[in-house]
Amino acid sequence: MSGTLYVVATPIGNLEDITYRAVRVLQEVDLIAAEDTRHSRKLLNHYSIDSTLISYHEHNEEFRSLQLIEKLQSGQSIALISDAGTPCIADPGYRLISSCRQEGVPVVTVPGPSAVIAALSISGLSTDAFRFVGFLPAKTHGRRQFLELVKNEQQTIVCYEAPHRLISSLNDMGEICGFDRPVVVARELTKRHEELFSGDITEALEYFSPDRVKGEIVMLLSPAPARQPEGTVRDALIRLREESDLSWKEIVKQVAKEFGVPGSDVYKESLELR
Ligand code: SAM
Repeated sequence: MSGTLYVVATPIGNLEDITYRAVRVLQEVDLIAAEDTRHSRKLLNHYSIDSTLISYHEHNEEFRSLQLIEKLQSGQSIALISDAGTPCIADPGYRLISSCRQEGVPVVTVPGPSAVIAALSISGLSTDAFRFVGFLPAKTHGRRQFLELVKNEQQTIVCYEAPHRLISSLNDMGEICGFDRPVVVARELTKRHEELFSGDITEALEYFSPDRVKGEIVMLLSPAPARQPEGTVRDALIRLREESDLSWKEIVKQVAKEFGVPGSDVYKESLELR
């Protein structure tokens, strides 16, 4: 019988942010695979967990995955943790999990904190739809190219950012998305110096520029303002009919949404075109 791989979320700052189940699982497993064993030892000591630790990080991920799979197949249970938050979210782990799936080794989630969700939940920005993009590209050229791709998205864009790049990223965002675009910067969540800035990009630059920014940061870019649809409802109906595979029902729904008018009006207009 194969053992189970538990993917366990750990605190993103405040040591109290761990579930009862996470503590129990970490106590019970044969082995804990951790990104930085010295770092995780502090958390484990705090909860009197003395399970054996083994390193699993981006530099040994491939080779270590093979070893861990062997151990799992021999019946050992393993917990995967990262330095903070949820493993695999901008952290190593997916290779191991994908190998487990291929080999039929059970993988179980023990959910908990993640900075992306923590920041979104207090951002005050729309969360119906959001796109998490991990870390923004570190170099200006790549970052600007990336921002060009996402600037018109009608959903909140969430990214992780290093403190020393915050100002350049805000400047690039302003130039590409407009300095009046609302942003949220969530810093040091759940820690002593937790703060949340909310305002437009110009205000963010004024707020953060005077000091050297420190700590861990999640940046959120508000959804792009809805674009005014071009032409008439009739034009839009014809265009979608020609350019898409959508049914009349779907076309009517989409055009009504785009123009912010009642579906029944668009339906009547569509009847003349069918
Ligand atoms: N796996 C983690 C998670 O689930 O949030 C993320 C790991 S990623 C390597 C580390 C980045 O997450 C940091 O550089 C920062 O951008 C963000 N982060 C982690 N903890 C944070 C916190 N307490 N406050 C704000 N951002 C945080």
